[in-house]
Amino acid sequence: APERVPAYAARLNPPQQQAVLTTEGPVLMLAGAGTGKTAALTARLAHLVAMRLAWPSEILCVTFTNKAAREMRHRVGQHIGDAVEGMPWLGTFHSVCAKMLRRHAELVGLESNYTIIDTDDQLRLLKQLITQNDLDEKRWPARQLAGLIDGWKNRGLNPADLSAVDSEAYGNGRGQQFYTLYQERLKSLNACDFGDLMLHMLNIFRQNREILEQYQRRFKYILVDEYQDTNAVQYLWLRLLAQDRKNICVVGDDDQSIYSWRGAEVANILRFEKDFPGAAVIKLEQNYRSTPHILGAASGLIRENTTRHDKTLWTEANGGEKVKIIGVWDGPEEARRVGEAIERLEGQGADLNQVAILVRAQYQTREFEDRFIQIGINYRIVGGFRFYERAEIRDALAYLRVIAQPQDDLAFERIYNQPKRGLGAKTLEKMHHHARRVGLPLAAASLQLADSDELPARAANTIAALLRDFLKWREMADALSPAELLRSVLDDTGYNAMLEAEKTAEAKGRIENLSELARAMEEYETLGDFLEHVALVMDNDASPDDEKITIMTMHAAKGLEFDNVFLPGWEEGVFPSQRALDEGGLASLEEERRLAYVAITRARRHCTILHAANRRIYGQWTSSIPSRFIEELPAEHVDAETTLAGGRSLWQANWSENEDPFAHVARDRPDRSGARGPGWQRALSSGYETKPARVQEPRRSAASFAAKPRADIAVGARVFHDKFGYGVVTDQEGNKLEIDFEQAGLKRVIDSFVTVAG
Ligand code: ATP
Ligand code: MG
Repeated sequence: APERVPAYAARLNPPQQQAVLTTEGPVLMLAGAGTGKTAALTARLAHLVAMRLAWPSEILCVTFTNKAAREMRHRVGQHIGDAVEGMPWLGTFHSVCAKMLRRHAELVGLESNYTIIDTDDQLRLLKQLITQNDLDEKRWPARQLAGLIDGWKNRGLNPADLSAVDSEAYGNGRGQQFYTLYQERLKSLNACDFGDLMLHMLNIFRQNREILEQYQRRFKYILVDEYQDTNAVQYLWLRLLAQDRKNICVVGDDDQSIYSWRGAEVANILRFEKDFPGAAVIKLEQNYRSTPHILGAASGLIRENTTRHDKTLWTEANGGEKVKIIGVWDGPEEARRVGEAIERLEGQGADLNQVAILVRAQYQTREFEDRFIQIGINYRIVGGFRFYERAEIRDALAYLRVIAQPQDDLAFERIYNQPKRGLGAKTLEKMHHHARRVGLPLAAASLQLADSDELPARAANTIAALLRDFLKWREMADALSPAELLRSVLDDTGYNAMLEAEKTAEAKGRIENLSELARAMEEYETLGDFLEHVALVMDNDASPDDEKITIMTMHAAKGLEFDNVFLPGWEEGVFPSQRALDEGGLASLEEERRLAYVAITRARRHCTILHAANRRIYGQWTSSIPSRFIEELPAEHVDAETTLAGGRSLWQANWSENEDPFAHVARDRPDRSGARGPGWQRALSSGYETKPARVQEPRRSAASFAAKPRADIAVGARVFHDKFGYGVVTDQEGNKLEIDFEQAGLKRVIDSFVTVAG
């Protein structure tokens, strides 16, 4: 009878109820986004406790992120009250393993108070090992080794398990040796890294039958959310734990598998039925999250993938707006448009906590952060640092601060040995001591110190060279734009080179962030202006309980939902990412498409996709092509007015009848150098043919936005440029010069940065 249905099961549909009531034996819930998988899993947990089938402490429930675990705990708490406090085994894979490892640490040579080291410590350790063991760290960066070791741990491989091919990947066949050394070093420090948490527990289970059996007996039920993203070590660990009772319920969606780059294997979910014969397979098809248009757009897109299980998704909801696609001129306009839309939502009384901007790459957040600070929209960045708080950005800013203000001791202290120059804590101590004694700022005092015999010759020389660089940069600051100055600093210090040598995805991300910083600086005339702006941006004084919009990556948004979702930067090379395009394989493109599916299906009511026709990269305008994913969205579910697929061009979509679409370009950016380059031609030959002649105009005459040419310079003139040296002007277009430099070769520079050499 309905009145006997407990609250947690009240609104569940029949297949969801099946997932709740099939308590014994393996259960696989394989279903599309927003169909209530997590809701059913939560209800199942509540049911197990309410029916006294298990004590809360006898249930193992793992989710993918801390946020998801907190959410699950909260929801279960609503059904079973305080009993949720007694659920030590509800968490992420890593948090659960960390807890287990405390109890059994001695079995892997650790003490129970072991420390978990972070990436920084990990790198420092590896660097030491590399140098101590006679390998050139420049040639074989520690980060590369760290990436390999993480990968091995994700696959459940101990040093002894490596194949010759694996070992070959580092230091000319020394991969295994360094992995072994690293593990020994960790042990001697009573420490382990993140990947060890899983691997140690897997090893313990494999080598100690009685301990494994103890946990197999304890966990009467095992529940796993987002199963499509488990990697090999997690999979093996789960399989061992579930082997005896086989009461394991996993839920997931193969279309949302987006972590293969971290070793996740979508195959895990597809072979569940083989591992656990007789598993109940439950499919959910009703979507409760999104409007029909959002669902239709996402379903149409994911159907382009060749390797997947087709799923039917339907919703009872009707009405709703189509997915909106907005083509804009450039990045700043994109941020402006999103800002306006959010202000409109705010005006209509919308809850800002229900607004999210989901980006493909971290660096994309900067433009939005700047804009929102300017117009006063509160935001939070989830799963990452706010742009200006990232380590590499802080480093770069520290250099700029010392250039602008030689007495900025804090900034100087941050970078005196970053990138590494072999200056240790001892040197810093002496510098501080001397600074206090003579009452000078740290930098100035250090210069005096370098001139004395107080320091070893090598340290003295290093400091003197650094301070000479600062003098040089300070002079350059007068001649160069802030952005150009930053580039010189990053080149001269070897900061860029350091990141490039690392060859990891993370280092690439840092390089992208630094170019984004340079891009941000291009809007400022002086270094002082820019630094003031940053100081204001850093001091975002929103109180913790203010309503805030959320900015995060698509990856971090998995499992979450928002009424309003904005998806900027849908351009080839941004999304799908350049990396995915370069790798070229179908697999990486399909993973990007799954990510697009995840992104769109986060939206409950409104989904807006944006793409810009131009992005400014290192002062150069490059044109971009709208993402292929936009064209793959079924026309009936998108706002056709602005799509290329709808037969109307981006350019038309971009301006209203009574406004010259390029007026703001001329107004805001008199120095535009004109958008050209290969991307431009590609764009012209790939679907832009329909654009009206009137709109073509400004592009052909892009030079007209440039300032007047300098009268004292003509083609053939010999000139001097601070950075590139002497050269001969080979072309002049407005204030842009093309110069054949004696040392640097052909470059395009702005004429105010050169002097006539006669
Ligand atoms: P994802 O694949 O994105 O993780 P999911 O399948 O886990 O999605 P949920 O987050 O559990 O989906 O549910 C999506 C939304 O639908 C939530 O707001 C949830 O409260 C709601 N919902 C789930 N089941 C039902 C139901 N039977 N009736 C009404 N609403 C439901
Ligand atoms: Mg979910």
